[in-house]
Amino acid sequence: MSNVTVCARFRPRSSKELRDHRDGVCVRGIDAETFVFQDDKEDELTFSLDGVFYEDSPQAAVYEFLALPIMRDAVNAINGTIITYGQTGAGKTFSMEGPGIQDGDDHNKGLLPRVVDGMFGQISSSKDIAKFTVKLSMVEIYMEKVRDLLDLSKGNIQIKETKTQGILLSDVTEVPVSDSAEALQYLCTGLANRAVGETQMNMSSSRSHCAYLFTIQQESLKDKRVKTGKLILVDLAGSEKADKTGAEGRVLEEAKTINKSLSALGNVINALTSGSSSKVNHIPYRDSKLTRILQDALGGNSRLALLCCCSPSTSNASETLSTLRFGMRAKHI
Ligand code: ADP
Ligand code: MG
Repeated sequence: MSNVTVCARFRPRSSKELRDHRDGVCVRGIDAETFVFQDDKEDELTFSLDGVFYEDSPQAAVYEFLALPIMRDAVNAINGTIITYGQTGAGKTFSMEGPGIQDGDDHNKGLLPRVVDGMFGQISSSKDIAKFTVKLSMVEIYMEKVRDLLDLSKGNIQIKETKTQGILLSDVTEVPVSDSAEALQYLCTGLANRAVGETQMNMSSSRSHCAYLFTIQQESLKDKRVKTGKLILVDLAGSEKADKTGAEGRVLEEAKTINKSLSALGNVINALTSGSSSKVNHIPYRDSKLTRILQDALGGNSRLALLCCCSPSTSNASETLSTLRFGMRAKHI
């Protein structure tokens, strides 16, 4: 990986958090990169990341800082990944999608619709140098099984590695999309399918990872050379630890599986960012479906943005601290 950007985003306090008078705020912003965090023991820890967004930061600011540079590079055939990480309720889906992908609330539009708009905007301004083809797939990873969200009738999608095209999802639906409206329409279909699956399997979307995969191919008009960029956006499953008291059966299995894939992600990012140890450069992509799918969007000449979504409330301080630690570890060079 040539470049990683790690940011934190603190959402506004929820009405539940505001109602509880014993609950307070555990974060104090210093500037656009630095904040002071008060942990469970009321110790003050200072964190510096590439960027920090507070409750009043608009979606547009997160997009411009974190996602736009990666989108722009992906259109120029440099692979990129944009990930939202954090406990359930911390703002991952709000950041990724916004309140609704197609609902016309432009101010609150999330990263995904903004990336799509930006991508087709850039493509149309490059029309006289290359012919672009964009394909979209959408999958969900639940209990280490990969589901095609654009076609629920497909079974568990297998992951293959090929010499010429890198990581491929065998038999996954790949729809060609020619403009922003068309792409958003498919994304809505995929999200609706995701909700159907949730009801059928009686599970919560917070227990699965959702990946939006764009393949952007360009053929130069001058010399017909073809270049391809992969851009993957991931809304991860909640990173919270299993409730120590109640968890059993499937809930416990889910928690273990999520925990395993998130630590695999952490290990892969860590192995990629600790460049000096390149002699022993084993990158453990195979430890989870998630890291396997992200393999070539993370490895090689590629870029990563990690948005660590956090609650600002004291009652969530220990989960927030573990989210911030994950972010710091990804940043570690
Ligand atoms: P997650 O996907 O991490 O479980 P959500 O994105 O669903 O969390 O957010 C939980 C709640 O908080 C939602 O009601 C969402 O609208 C709200 N929320 C999250 N982030 C923000 C934000 N930056 N501004 C306003 N509301 C937010
Ligand atoms: Mg969510």
